[in-house]
Amino acid sequence: MPVNKITNDLLTMKNLPDKTVERLSQYRRSLNNQLVKGKTHIFSHEIANLLHITPVQVRRDIMLIGYSGTLRKGYDIKEMVDLIGKIIDTEEGQKIAVIGMGNLGKAFIHYLQEKRSKLNIVAAFDINPEKINKTYAGVKCYHFDQLVEIVRSENISIGIITTPPEVVSQIADKLNEAGIKGILNFTPKPLSAREGIYLEEYDMITSLEKVAYFVKS
Ligand code: NAD
Repeated sequence: MPVNKITNDLLTMKNLPDKTVERLSQYRRSLNNQLVKGKTHIFSHEIANLLHITPVQVRRDIMLIGYSGTLRKGYDIKEMVDLIGKIIDTEEGQKIAVIGMGNLGKAFIHYLQEKRSKLNIVAAFDINPEKINKTYAGVKCYHFDQLVEIVRSENISIGIITTPPEVVSQIADKLNEAGIKGILNFTPKPLSAREGIYLEEYDMITSLEKVAYFVKS
């Protein structure tokens, strides 16, 4: 189905499986690399090879977003990149706050600001007086006490937690009070679910242990 025939319902789809959304993001990055190399069309098995998954999985995901290619040429890469953008991004972009401006918080801000995506970090928070009112990659660091006020006034929808694990619950409570919609928790302490908040835990150790399991003799 050509992109322009896909209904608005599909483009604002909210109920895609988590793993599909994760792969859509990966497809977009790989497809953008292919565009840069001058490629215009791609087959499902080629995408599968790039991401080390099966062509069946790729076709299933692409069917879920209501897109299809042609037998002869495969998928139109530019159309797919645009479609994934319409599903994942919002027109005006989304605002993000980073809480905890230590090693990881600073690295994250620098990394994401360089990407210039639709995800914009607009505020950082910490409790260390040496960091308050400083600017990191163009992002101002406020005292944690100002979190509710700034999140509301800036209409920030996502919070990234890069504090020590001991305070993660306290941070999540404040983000909840401020009306945040999504949290990405980088601390090793998992958060309990909070109604109305999409929660993603990122645990580096789990990823590393997975690799260790598959390479052990
Ligand atoms: P860090 O000690 O360098 O930074 C933590 C920052 O949080 C500090 O600036 C501190 O002042 C601030 N902070 C403390 N309490 C706070 C509060 N109540 N409100 C706001 N800010 C507060 O630590 P780091 O190395 O950046 O790691 C941050 C978190 O990410 C830890 O939970 C760590 O386990 C996890 N993590 C770190 C890495 C890494 O590579 N550094 C990797 C994976 C996970």
